[in-house]
Amino acid sequence: MVEFNKIQITKVAATVLELLGVAKEEKMAAPISEVIEESSKKFQKPVDRVFMYNPDAIAMWIYDKYREDFKDLELDADLKLKMMSVYPPVTPACFGSMYSGLLPKDHGIQKYEKPVLKVPTIFDLLPQAGKKVAIVSTAKDSISVIFLERNIDYFIYPTKEECNNKAMELIEADEYDVIILYNPDYDYYMHRFTPEGKRSLRALRENIDTYCQIREEIKKKWQSKGHRTVLGFAPDHGCHRAWGFLGSHGKNEPYDMNIVHFYTFI
Ligand SMILES: [Zn+2]
Repeated sequence: MVEFNKIQITKVAATVLELLGVAKEEKMAAPISEVIEESSKKFQKPVDRVFMYNPDAIAMWIYDKYREDFKDLELDADLKLKMMSVYPPVTPACFGSMYSGLLPKDHGIQKYEKPVLKVPTIFDLLPQAGKKVAIVSTAKDSISVIFLERNIDYFIYPTKEECNNKAMELIEADEYDVIILYNPDYDYYMHRFTPEGKRSLRALRENIDTYCQIREEIKKKWQSKGHRTVLGFAPDHGCHRAWGFLGSHGKNEPYDMNIVHFYTFI
């Protein structure tokens, strides 16, 4: 029987804050000790750049089954963490938890709806601490909507390609302390063609490639300038095959709740 993973995605918020030396809100879940320990081993002082790559709906079981596709990513990843999503494992509830450090009942998004979150998130605490933050995300998707009204910059575009190009430009420009990049395509195709459909798996490989391209760009543009960067690969929830040629997520089952996150220290 497949068990639930132990480290919940609520811990990501305080992890990002602690890496940058910013205090968390009291109610936020504690940071992921593995990431903090690895970071101090690698850098001996707080990092000055965090880049979080958020591909949608990549399940742990997809990683286990298609591990070969993750080879380039894993080659250079310092940490692989078995993570657990929150219930209900639907996009706005999960990213709400990932960046507020709160469970859905505490941040308020408990079903598929996208109100602007009123609770404190990293997008409140980071600018208060003087950090410059950019969200790069596809229009109308959760990350583009639920974190609005913060003192950060939003780069919202119709397509994934425009988002990814913008993210590369932002790395080159080197003006932000924290960049969040969201890609919806694996989730989009998984719903229509099942998690293992040909088009879905293409999106998975593209997401992995994007992470690797970001990693290489950060090495070239940031590492050479002496920045200390933590790059995260952090999907929101898993997925499963529904009837016919569809895919779904939203159940309190390991296939929807278990995901894998990676961190690369550059
Ligand atoms: Zn999602």
